[in-house]
This record gives sequence, C-alpha cells and structure tokens, in this order.
Amino acid sequence: AERERIGRTSGPGRTADGHPVKLLLNIGSAADAEAGVDAEGVGLFRTEFLYLDRRTPPTHEEQVAAYAEVLRAFPAGAPVVFRTLDAGTDKPLPFLGLAEEVNPALGVRGLRVARLRPEVLDAQLDAIAEAARETGTTPWVMAPMVTTPAEAADFARRARARGLSRVGAMIEVPAAALHADRLLDRLDFLSIGTNDLSQYTFAADRQHGDLADLLDPWQPALLRMVELCAEAGRAAGRPVGVCGEAAADPLLATVLVGLGVTSLSMSARSVPAVRDALARHTLAECRRNAELALDAPDPEAARAAVRAAG
Ligand code: PEP
Ligand code: MG
Repeated sequence: AERERIGRTSGPGRTADGHPVKLLLNIGSAADAEAGVDAEGVGLFRTEFLYLDRRTPPTHEEQVAAYAEVLRAFPAGAPVVFRTLDAGTDKPLPFLGLAEEVNPALGVRGLRVARLRPEVLDAQLDAIAEAARETGTTPWVMAPMVTTPAEAADFARRARARGLSRVGAMIEVPAAALHADRLLDRLDFLSIGTNDLSQYTFAADRQHGDLADLLDPWQPALLRMVELCAEAGRAAGRPVGVCGEAAADPLLATVLVGLGVTSLSMSARSVPAVRDALARHTLAECRRNAELALDAPDPEAARAAVRAAG
C-alpha cells in the first residue's frame, strides 16, 4: 500500500509507522540549551566549558548555577544527560596536575582522571545533585571513556551515593562495547560516542586528516559495535543512544535506528533533517537499511546500498 511520506518538521522523533526515537541535543553550554528547545531533551551535555582556561577547578556554586540553568531550559521529565568532565593530557587542565604523556589518547583521560583525582569527579557529582534538588528535576549522568564493568560500577556507586538515579556510561572504547551487557548490570543507560569509538576501534587518531576514511561512521565494523550495544540494551530493557557525529547524518540515522538505538543526540541544526528522514522510513525499512550497511564491505558500498534502497 502507498504510505504517506510527507516527512515532519517538528515534534518528537518517530518512524513513518510511529516507532518513537528520542531526538536529543548535544550542548556545550547553557546558551546552546536555549537555542535548541525544539528537541526532546539533552543527550550530551559536555561540561568541559566550566573547567577550561583556569588554574583552579570551578567552585561548587559556579557549577550548581550553570547546571541548574541547563536543567531549567527543559520541561521536568525531559532527559538531560550530563557527561562528567572529559579531560586528560589530550585536553589538558592545569589544575589536574597530570604528567605529560607520550600517548595522551591512550592515557589518563575521561573517567580515568578519577583514578588520580577522584575529588574532582565527586565535586562535580555533588554539584549536579544539588542542581537537581534546586530545580526539582532528575538529571541523567554518564562518564566518558568507561572501559570495564568495574569502572562502570565505581562510577555508578559514586553517583548513586549522591542520590543521582539515572546513571550511565558513554561507549567509546571497544572493550566497553563488547561488554555492554555487563555494563548494563550496573547502569541505567548507555550512550555511544561514535567519534571516539571510531578512533579506538580503527586505531586511527580522530584528528588525523589522512585517516579520514577509517573514521567514516558508515564503517561496517563500527556499526557492528553499535549493534552489540543496542542488543544488550534491548535484552536489559534499557535505553541505548548515539551521541557522536554519526547521529547527525540523516540516512545513517535510519541505520542506527534499525540497529536498535533508542535515541539520537546531535547539534540543534541537525535535528530537522534527522527527524524528517526517520519520518520517511518505517521501522522495518530502518532494519533493512541496517542489514544492508552491516553486510557491505566498506563505507562507500554501505552508503550506496542504503541510498539505492530509498
Ligand atoms: C564522542 O566521542 O563521540 C563524543 C560524543 O564525545 P566527544 O566528541 O566530546 O569526545
Ligand atoms: Mg568522546
């Protein structure tokens, strides 16, 4: 039967046959939150901005004020996912006092900083919990660069001890994707950071222009990683989203939904085209697109196969 394929320019994300997919925002400040009220919430709040260009960590009060401002920009009940500080020697912060590393991308970054400076993470979680109380909302919190189930458990313990009840991890490291099911024993949700997951799956520096083909988000091996996480989420009945650049490609968004991800997070300007692409495909067509992309030998063939399928 001929189906209506009109696309949609506003409202919540869903496929042509009504399967819901949350469309969320990647933000780096409260100002970004105000610019993007057309989304259903925040899938990735990069909190680094508070810590940059300073010799001392932000105070409790500064953090609470900034976090509360973001929480107030969305209706109570909308997900707002805080990503805890993602620093390290690749994004150096003087007050962390980390030693220089030969291989910073493989060193002490993201959640690993808490091995040396746990008080910085604890202070941030304290401030998020305080902002939650002030605004009467339930923020979600997740850690970057989680690698093992033990790290996930430690992060969850710290967050839950402060009354934070929606606790998750970014999936950016292949070991975490392979054990997504074990991570979900301790966590409420996962969010796949395809920028770093590409870098670590393909052993290719994400800034390296000469290796851009390896970092193409249509790489079938990257999509297999996404599938593993989505399957673990489905089995556990927990949400698994994508918050890397891959989520902003409208046609790839249909593939990600077909793989089973439950939300897509992107910058505000990408939301309309992704919403429109989902509204033009049924869930069955998204699943077909996922199969075509997984079966393709390389990113170009994956793209071509999915484009040809319509
Ligand atoms: C990612 O790695 O995909 C991600 C969303 O985090 P960032 O780009 O901030 O490293
Ligand atoms: Mg990352």
